[in-house]
Amino acid sequence: MAGSKMQLELSRVVQGKSRLGVLKGLGRTGRHSLEVPGCLLYTRFGTVPHLTQDTLHTMSSLPSVSQVTLSNIAEHQEVLEEFKDGFRRFAGLHDTVLYCSLHDPAALCPTGYTTNKTVSVWGSGGRIELTVAKFMALQKTVQPDWYQSMADGETWQNNTSRKRVRKSVDRTLAHLDECLLLHQKSQELEGVEVFGVVEGGDILEERLRSARETAKRPVAGFCLDGLQSGSMDQTLRTQLITALTKELPEDKPRLLQGVGRPDEVLACVEAGVDLFESFFPFQVTERGCALCFSFDISPDPERAGRAPPAVLELNEENKAVGETQQNGDRNRDDQTQMTSFEIDLKDKRYQDDFRPLVEGCGCYCCKNHQRAYLHHLLVTNELLAGVLLMIHNTTHYYGFFSVLREALASDKLDLLKRRVLGDGGWQTGRKE
Ligand SMILES: [Zn+2]
Repeated sequence: MAGSKMQLELSRVVQGKSRLGVLKGLGRTGRHSLEVPGCLLYTRFGTVPHLTQDTLHTMSSLPSVSQVTLSNIAEHQEVLEEFKDGFRRFAGLHDTVLYCSLHDPAALCPTGYTTNKTVSVWGSGGRIELTVAKFMALQKTVQPDWYQSMADGETWQNNTSRKRVRKSVDRTLAHLDECLLLHQKSQELEGVEVFGVVEGGDILEERLRSARETAKRPVAGFCLDGLQSGSMDQTLRTQLITALTKELPEDKPRLLQGVGRPDEVLACVEAGVDLFESFFPFQVTERGCALCFSFDISPDPERAGRAPPAVLELNEENKAVGETQQNGDRNRDDQTQMTSFEIDLKDKRYQDDFRPLVEGCGCYCCKNHQRAYLHHLLVTNELLAGVLLMIHNTTHYYGFFSVLREALASDKLDLLKRRVLGDGGWQTGRKE
């Protein structure tokens, strides 16, 4: 494909699966890069929810790639066409690589609306049906650097029949071929990268077929769809990903859709995933919670700032939450439920808690405010609550990814897993 520049340079592959490296040559100029394992910047219509561009750019280690979704954009097609200058300029985004996906990972997508020729996305004004022609017309209007090909991903529910799963793989491949054909004819999309979508529900042979066939096409990378949180348990997800990534070329990135919980991220990296969508800190913010899990792998107690004393309390507090989640009947609604990686600041116990959200956290919120103040903002429905929580939660989450890469580089993945999963391992080496 003309102008294809995206390049994955792997510096390490741990135990044949966990990959450490850099995705280079991103953007139209090819100047941008993204470290893997890593995540994309989650946005709604180009904006990180709650944060202005000014606030956003005060934060460190922001991903260089912003994700926008057609579910947010499709209903504004006419305005964008009139604007003519692409979504990046329309939304006032400057120096970012733009990746366009089909669905918003943080929003529930109703099923039962795909046909052989169409898929549906849901915006604020309701359902919009997309044919490949409309999908590609949208891409030309958005002018992303990189987009996900159209896909029939309605097979994540665990009662989906084998016949339906097979149909979704066939349709997704047909959509991909059509997208590629239109892409190659389009001048506007010259140099833009396409990711093929791997479907196959929970059926191994369909997953393998989907991966094998997609890999034969001229795609820059792969989106792994239908494996999102709530659709299946982690053991099955790991088995499927481990098997299907063997069918994919080593030198192209794999982006897993709809998985964001730290424990699931770790397991999926171990199965061979490179990239994630970072909608999780946004969901945590929306429920009035703060991410507090520990990911400190430093042997140096001086750097223990990363491992907040709060974590001890967190693990005790949330034991019950974790248990319910593991045993409960998992469905997609789980995504809105509190996880064991966060604390609920609306809880009365925080009304006179004058500690920062996480001791030692360098974010604006933790440097300037205490839990008691956040509690107050939340119970009085102040908009600032969302702003401060989003600053902390995204900082904490991106910090976790950077330590994850550090752990892969220094053979400390097991230590990191113990920290994140909170089996008490975090106590060692932290004694005063
Ligand atoms: Zn913080």
